[in-house]
Amino acid sequence: MNFFRMSAHVCRLSVLCLCLSLLSCVLIGSSASSLVTVKRTQMHMGTLVSITALGRSHDDANEAITAGFQEIKRLEQLLSTWISSSELSKVNAAAGQSAVKVSLETMAVVRKSLQVAEMTDGAFNIAIGPAVEAWNISAEPRLPTSEELAAVKPLVDLQSVHTDVWERTIYLEKPGMRIDVGGIGKGYAADQAVLVMKKAGAVAGVVALSGDIKTFGRLPDGTAFPVGIRHPRKEGELLAELDLQDEAISTAGDYERFFDKDGVRYHHILDPRTLQPARGCQSVSVIAKEGIWADGLDTGIFVLGAERGMDLVEQLEDVEAIIVDADGRILVSSGLRNRVRLSKGSGQ
Ligand code: AMP
Ligand code: MG
Repeated sequence: MNFFRMSAHVCRLSVLCLCLSLLSCVLIGSSASSLVTVKRTQMHMGTLVSITALGRSHDDANEAITAGFQEIKRLEQLLSTWISSSELSKVNAAAGQSAVKVSLETMAVVRKSLQVAEMTDGAFNIAIGPAVEAWNISAEPRLPTSEELAAVKPLVDLQSVHTDVWERTIYLEKPGMRIDVGGIGKGYAADQAVLVMKKAGAVAGVVALSGDIKTFGRLPDGTAFPVGIRHPRKEGELLAELDLQDEAISTAGDYERFFDKDGVRYHHILDPRTLQPARGCQSVSVIAKEGIWADGLDTGIFVLGAERGMDLVEQLEDVEAIIVDADGRILVSSGLRNRVRLSKGSGQ
């Protein structure tokens, strides 16, 4: 997975959070119902990961959090393209040569990515890897020449990604092809972390990999978990808040990894047709039962654009969205209108 390398800013934040978690597993409250809430933050998948668990004891909650972090680390070893021994790195290295045997999980992430690609008419495209590299998005983003982009365009070809479910292999037909699941993998990791936390005995909790958040259960006072959505243009301000119960939310924004050149914002979500940053939205937040769908769809809808994206959301069961279009207009899906609390002055 082409997870972003951490910026100095994120590094500083993570150091602070790590210090906090080393000092003590932060006990953020115990309730009348005698549940204990513990929160810890670590750096994984190139981003800050915060896990909160509610358990019947401090040890229960803490063990669940440890299990959640271990699961995320395990998945990173399978899916990260920064790790040369990962399964996806091996698939990429064998492009044009041979099929590579993978785990059930890697196969599941790739197959679901292909489903999201179908749902979004190819706007979501995990074969985007060579274009992500041309923009050097993960390190020091740069403007590639049109020749460079034209050279990698034939490689961004989902028809040349072959999955054999029975043999459990993935084969990339053209040399130089690269799969990048950075647009969907964090959502999947949040889902899987929640599963192991439940197994470890947590009663409720939240797993947040930066903007990919999955919740389960309720707070000690019986209320759902409140989450905030960042305003795409007003730093430090919220666009909206809503409460989640056994749901995931994932946000794709053009403010996450970007640079400005001659007054134009270049960011990390690429339109597979042009290999240029997608221009239809400022941010897309998708709410779904599973993080893998929320994460895949936020990226795909960002590329589709606000109107087509919202049309798709309205067709999908159990999927809702808040989209900020290119002009700063806020679109809220019908199933969310009486749940979401827009911040005062959140429009542009
Ligand atoms: P997200 O933050 O979930 O929107 O994911 C953004 C990441 O997905 C980027 O950093 C790339 O690694 C990858 N990506 C960029 N454009 C696309 C696309 N059109 N389809 C799938 N993945 C993409
Ligand atoms: Mg995504």
